[in-house]
Amino acid sequence: MAPLKVLVGVKRVIDFAVKVRLAPGGQRVQEQGVKHSMNPFCEIALEEAVRLRERGDAAEVIAASVGTRQSQDALRTALALGADRAVLVEVPEAAPPLGPREVAAALGELVRRERPLLVLLGKQAIDDDCNQTGQILAAILDWPQGTFLSHLELAPASGSVRIQREVDGGLERLRLRLPALLTADLRLNEPRYATLPNIMKAKKKPLELVPLAELLGAPPPPPKLRVLRLEEPPARQGGQRVESVAALLERLAAAGRL
Ligand code: AMP
Repeated sequence: MAPLKVLVGVKRVIDFAVKVRLAPGGQRVQEQGVKHSMNPFCEIALEEAVRLRERGDAAEVIAASVGTRQSQDALRTALALGADRAVLVEVPEAAPPLGPREVAAALGELVRRERPLLVLLGKQAIDDDCNQTGQILAAILDWPQGTFLSHLELAPASGSVRIQREVDGGLERLRLRLPALLTADLRLNEPRYATLPNIMKAKKKPLELVPLAELLGAPPPPPKLRVLRLEEPPARQGGQRVESVAALLERLAAAGRL
């Protein structure tokens, strides 16, 4: 079998610790001047790919992002965390935001170009919480898919991957033929931190920019979904302290909650 390449989808999102605010106009969230990071589930997917290479099961790890030039910072982080090279499918700043369908179409073209045997994505992005890109991409490629992974074992010699996935009723174990698409859940691994020497080394690793229209061979079709309005959740009411359980029960009864 050819040396196994792994392609990891990396999305740049607003950092999980930031309190998200609406931008004026109410159709987008405030992105300017706000800390961004790599989507946490993408970090887990990347960690797993890097471990596969460290174990000698994979030959190369490519981090790929579809986004504006700003997504280069997430890709540099991916390089510092162990990816061998990175590809940014570049979307113009003024373009409407892409949804999972458009991102999956772009990643599909990149997969045709790079020919990885394994594509690893996060199970979801914490900005839009879609949990769709992996499933749509597997359908586009007509590849077997394993979502919500908590364990994976590559068997390159037999051209397959054994996975364990977290489902509502417990754990499901499957064996998929390669090439395959997998999405990482929280318990797959604990990602490493980037060390300073690796951050320095990452600056010299290759990061290729490919314009989206060039990759698709045509101008991208307009997104099918349009956000009409976003609303802040209602402000939380302040809490109240009571002195005893009896007082709590009394209050709940008075409020008609018992
Ligand atoms: P989603 O379907 O939006 O919840 O995203 C699930 C996963 O798809 C993410 O964890 C990424 O691995 C991948 N993904 C989503 N959007 C992008 C993007 N713009 N660029 C690269 N990968 C992405």
